[in-house]
Amino acid sequence: MNARPARNLDSANIVGHFIDGNEIADDNRPQPITNPATGEVTRHVAMATQETVSNAIAAAEAAFPAWRNTPPAKRAKVMFRFKALLEKHADEIVALLTNEHGKVIDDAMGEFIRGVEIVDYACGIPELLKGEYSKNVGPGIDSWSEFQPLGVVAGITPFNFPAMVPMWMFPVAIACGNTFILKPSEKDPSAPLFVAKLMKEAGLPDGVMNVVNGDKEAVDALLGDVRVQAISFVGSTRIAEYIYTTGTKNGKRIQALGGAKNHAIVMPDADIDNAVNALMGAAYGSCGERCMAISVTVCVGDDTADTVVGKLQDRLRDLKVGNGNDASNDMGPLITKAHFDKVKDYVDIGVAEGADLVVDGRDLSVEGHENGFFLGPCLFDNVMPGMRIYKEEIFGPVLCVVRVDSQERAMQLIDDHEYGNGTCIFTRDGEAARYFADNIKVGMVGINVPLPVPVAYHSFGGWKRSLFGDLYAYGPDSVRFYTRRKTITQRWSSGGVREQAQFSFPSNR
Ligand code: NAD
Repeated sequence: MNARPARNLDSANIVGHFIDGNEIADDNRPQPITNPATGEVTRHVAMATQETVSNAIAAAEAAFPAWRNTPPAKRAKVMFRFKALLEKHADEIVALLTNEHGKVIDDAMGEFIRGVEIVDYACGIPELLKGEYSKNVGPGIDSWSEFQPLGVVAGITPFNFPAMVPMWMFPVAIACGNTFILKPSEKDPSAPLFVAKLMKEAGLPDGVMNVVNGDKEAVDALLGDVRVQAISFVGSTRIAEYIYTTGTKNGKRIQALGGAKNHAIVMPDADIDNAVNALMGAAYGSCGERCMAISVTVCVGDDTADTVVGKLQDRLRDLKVGNGNDASNDMGPLITKAHFDKVKDYVDIGVAEGADLVVDGRDLSVEGHENGFFLGPCLFDNVMPGMRIYKEEIFGPVLCVVRVDSQERAMQLIDDHEYGNGTCIFTRDGEAARYFADNIKVGMVGINVPLPVPVAYHSFGGWKRSLFGDLYAYGPDSVRFYTRRKTITQRWSSGGVREQAQFSFPSNR
């Protein structure tokens, strides 16, 4: 299928595709994969053509009828075996994550474990697919609703969680009886490909799980193909909106999760040391490349702000930045040189806009890793809502502190922002916390919890321009997203009694 002879590049070092149970070698438009800690090109990844994507869709379509009719308990058995294989290969997967994404090894393990938790959830699919039944909706008439798989569904995923975000999608989609095509980020494709291949080892029939690597050409091929019933997307808001508008216009079911600018409010009565600890991890963990990262801290009152900023400055002096493979480091590099330049430019912009850069990470050099994409942590104080560094998603180790004089003003800022992914409040006041949780216009809310990422049996999603679509990722919403309700009403005539024709609308009058 679309295999091409390698030209100048060693084909063993090109990440290809996984279609119909086979690894497909391909050297079409190979793009470099870089280890962000060293700046070295480690491998290349093929960019699928429309023809390659079409082959993957054909394989998924062919596999659908048998998989759809496989009892959910048997599908669950594949998931149990898949989970065991994931755990067996955990260290290899985590190493792939760190070498291509750059995140520190412990953080990579955290990502991996949160992904496996979705597999746990998918193991319960017989229970999750139980329908709804009503006996005697009319005389001798019973009715039930069941949830049928859609067919071929696809997932398009971002660079920042190369293993976890694909696992937000395909375990539940496949457990529901669909067949799947994953298009991972071209920046770190090795871990998702490795994970997908384990599904075959777990006993999944060929064609049920497929991976096509690529870029816009592959994405547009998925969006334009009538055989694809639904697409889950996670990435930036600009592309999420494009996927949603194009996909829905083409008659597909779409959930498209976008970018974020997550605010944490620190109230004057908060346990400030705990809040600062929480902010350190939430703002600078994974180099700020998390859609749930806290990138704005709104301090209520100048005293609160002075204390928070002072303590953050102290803590940031000791933050260790370096190769993610060294477990003693707190923060690794940014994903690519281009992203490094973009984040650094934002820091320059913030300075030009008049915010106070109280911790400047721009001149960091990591010994022995001079070509890595390392930016030290940056902290801005006195950020104003009109500034670009406040309005736009930076997606790097840059925390903006905004000073306000009341909880109402802090909440107004959050409500006025275009994004509504996550938020949190630090306080000891239950009434303030309850008011916040009840009223704030954000999809995922923490109370003294900085990264309120829902566990696998809840669902994940933001409000406003952080999500296009109605249903959240994973958890109960994903079972609804990957299935179609069918309601069946049944009567068996008893005793050979013939019904008379009825011309009025059926009712229990
Ligand atoms: P991205 O939007 O650049 O890429 C995401 C996916 O879309 C990739 O697979 C990519 O190949 C594809 N893509 C890129 N450009 C495209 C185009 N022009 N047409 C079609 N497809 C295209 O995002 P990224 O840089 O990989 O990831 C970071 C972004 O993802 C951030 O904005 C972050 O907030 C967001 N994100 C959101 C969530 C969430 O749950 N809301 C989770 C993780 C990441």
